[in-house]
Amino acid sequence: MPGAHVKTGSVVGRRKTSGIGPSRRIAEELRAQNERFAAAVENMSHGLCMFDADERMIICNRNYIDIFSLDAKVVKPGIRFLDILQHSVDIGIASQSASELYAIRKPYIDGARASTYEEILSDGRIIVISHRPIAVGGWVSIYEDVTEERRAEAELKEQYRRFDAALANMSQGLLMYSAEGRLIVRNQRFLDLCNAEASDFTLGMTHRQMLDKLIRLGIFAPLEIDIEVGKSKARLDAGQSHASYRELVDGRTLFVQRRPLAGGGWVATFEDVTERRRTEERMTHLAHHDTLTNLPNRSMFREKLDQALGEAKPLAILSLDLDRFKAVNDTFGHPAGDWLLQCVAKRLQHAVRSSKDVVARFGGDEFAVIQSGTKSAADAERLAKRIVEIVGKPYRDKGREMHVGVSLGIALYPGDGHDADTLLTNADMALYRGKSEGRNVYRFFEQGMDALMRERRALEADLEAALSRREFELDFQPILDIGSGKIVGAEALMRWRSRSRGLVSPENFIAVAEETGLIVQLGDWALRKACNVAANWPPDMRMAVNVSAAQIKSGGFARSVISALAFSGLPANRLELEITETVMMDESDAVLKTLSQLRGLGVRIALDDFGTGYSSLGYLRRFPVDKIKIDRSFIRDLDKRDTAAIVRTVIGLGAELGITVTAEGVETEAQLDTLRKAGCGEAQGFLIGVPAKASDIGGLLRSQALLRQSG
Ligand code: C2E
Ligand code: MG
Ligand code: MG
Repeated sequence: MPGAHVKTGSVVGRRKTSGIGPSRRIAEELRAQNERFAAAVENMSHGLCMFDADERMIICNRNYIDIFSLDAKVVKPGIRFLDILQHSVDIGIASQSASELYAIRKPYIDGARASTYEEILSDGRIIVISHRPIAVGGWVSIYEDVTEERRAEAELKEQYRRFDAALANMSQGLLMYSAEGRLIVRNQRFLDLCNAEASDFTLGMTHRQMLDKLIRLGIFAPLEIDIEVGKSKARLDAGQSHASYRELVDGRTLFVQRRPLAGGGWVATFEDVTERRRTEERMTHLAHHDTLTNLPNRSMFREKLDQALGEAKPLAILSLDLDRFKAVNDTFGHPAGDWLLQCVAKRLQHAVRSSKDVVARFGGDEFAVIQSGTKSAADAERLAKRIVEIVGKPYRDKGREMHVGVSLGIALYPGDGHDADTLLTNADMALYRGKSEGRNVYRFFEQGMDALMRERRALEADLEAALSRREFELDFQPILDIGSGKIVGAEALMRWRSRSRGLVSPENFIAVAEETGLIVQLGDWALRKACNVAANWPPDMRMAVNVSAAQIKSGGFARSVISALAFSGLPANRLELEITETVMMDESDAVLKTLSQLRGLGVRIALDDFGTGYSSLGYLRRFPVDKIKIDRSFIRDLDKRDTAAIVRTVIGLGAELGITVTAEGVETEAQLDTLRKAGCGEAQGFLIGVPAKASDIGGLLRSQALLRQSG
């Protein structure tokens, strides 16, 4: 009932208009007009209040009463303006005193001037008041509560401010396009990324124009604009977001993301990911390369191999292992070892011809090569030979010279396998075979090698168990002093009486024991046993014991010799240690120190298998030995002129240096005769005596001693 709230004052009389005639009609019309006016006032959305020239209220509507929370019983037509102000102060809605509020309005009332002002109520609401004078005197005021509107406005403003700040401070460049495809937002970061001016990319530009500009400014490389625009439009039309990398002309990389907007149009962000990409590339590089040599590592090698096998063209896998690298590390230290590995890596890269070939380092001194386009085994063989030659050349650094060799195993695709695993295993198998046969060699994979490999593993396992099962024995082979015709000693030779294998020759198990390290224990056992046996022999009998390089290098070898002597009571000068050149070849001083320590105690050192090695004479200079044992291969060929000459030279050299010379493998009287004539000191071989049990040799020696005493 809006009309009920309208307080009608003196504008409209309250006379009854019941008479007929013109006056009545006029009154009737007036009444109707009055009602329409009252209804309009009551229904308007603003508050309204009208005052007469005496500043008394004529009329107000409900909104007015409500806005100020006025008491309708107090604020009724006829009330003075100042009293309304006072009432509003009384009920606590005004935030100023009545006189202050009045003072603000008074000039306008008096000057009959229109004005608009805001009043902030005590509850924080904001009311906009429009003051309009009326021609006949008095005025009308319209009140509007704009609190909500202002709050929304302020919120929007804050939102804009935040948006602006966010845009300006974004690490990404941003472009926003309208539904019509025109640029509507572009932040500073975008310009910075492009090193461009605001005028280069003005609002309103289309995607096509933008691309064109980016190309013309030399930021983007030239591209097919139509295709590019078409593609991105198709994606946006389908509502798809899209992300891609864009390589800039200056080498930087931008990560560009495009997202369609709900109301049409789209937003594109640009991020400089140059550094991140480089880091990623570095990380992937690190994950796939060996840090020391920068060569691909095993995982990268596998990847490349799978890739190459995918092409189904013939290729070769070469598995490499350096020879004597450990000696370099031990002798010159790890930095030198690292340096050498880097050199080897370079030489290998040099050795492969095609850029399609892959050289990888698997770790330690293991390398591998994929040779692509290998038409025949001969191709792989040529590469293998080249590698052996190139890697085998000396390495010179800071006045030092280092030597390593390389052994290779080769597997061919498709002949030796169809997948990476098989090929790699087969190449390894061939390498393994090569290593066991000698160093600096290459070896092709052959069917049956895997069976050999299994056999070899089984042998290792058996050998390991044999020691605790006491399956080893020593035989002794007498050594003859040629001049006197007397036995002056014997050499201890190991035998393995295996439960499952029968009698195994040292040729077939010593090398394996050396590789597995078992030789250290085994050699120690032989040493003790031999010393114990010799302790029971006549006092002028020597005992020769074979010693492997691995034993001396293992550390504690001198102690083990001393302990064997001490426990057996054998004088040191009756023990002879037979070493081979490989021991001398070890460049580490520790080995030579151990030997001279033992020699200092009186233990004799014999150089075994003399002549089969590389440069025996050179080693004689490095370490003085007490005896040289000429290898039996020379004695076998003693009837050949050249061989006889070599043997005579060695014997002469021995005499010169004061070193006893023993000939090994003497099987015939003729050989012994030749040796005697050449002045050779001692002989050993089947002619003098085959390796026999301790008891047999003991008997022989004792009878000879008795013979000597009686003779
Ligand atoms: P080696 O030290 O040169 O020993 C001599 C080898 O020649 C022995 O072979 C011996 O039986 C053989 N032999 C002796 N006289 C003749 C002959 O007139 N004709 C022929 N054809 N051969 C003869 P064996 O016992 O098979 O030993 C082979 C190698 O195994 C030894 O060569 C030695 O290097 C190694 N070895 C043996 N026992 C031990 C050991 O206890 N420790 C180490 N580390 N190596 C050992
Ligand atoms: Mg020997
Ligand atoms: Mg020998």
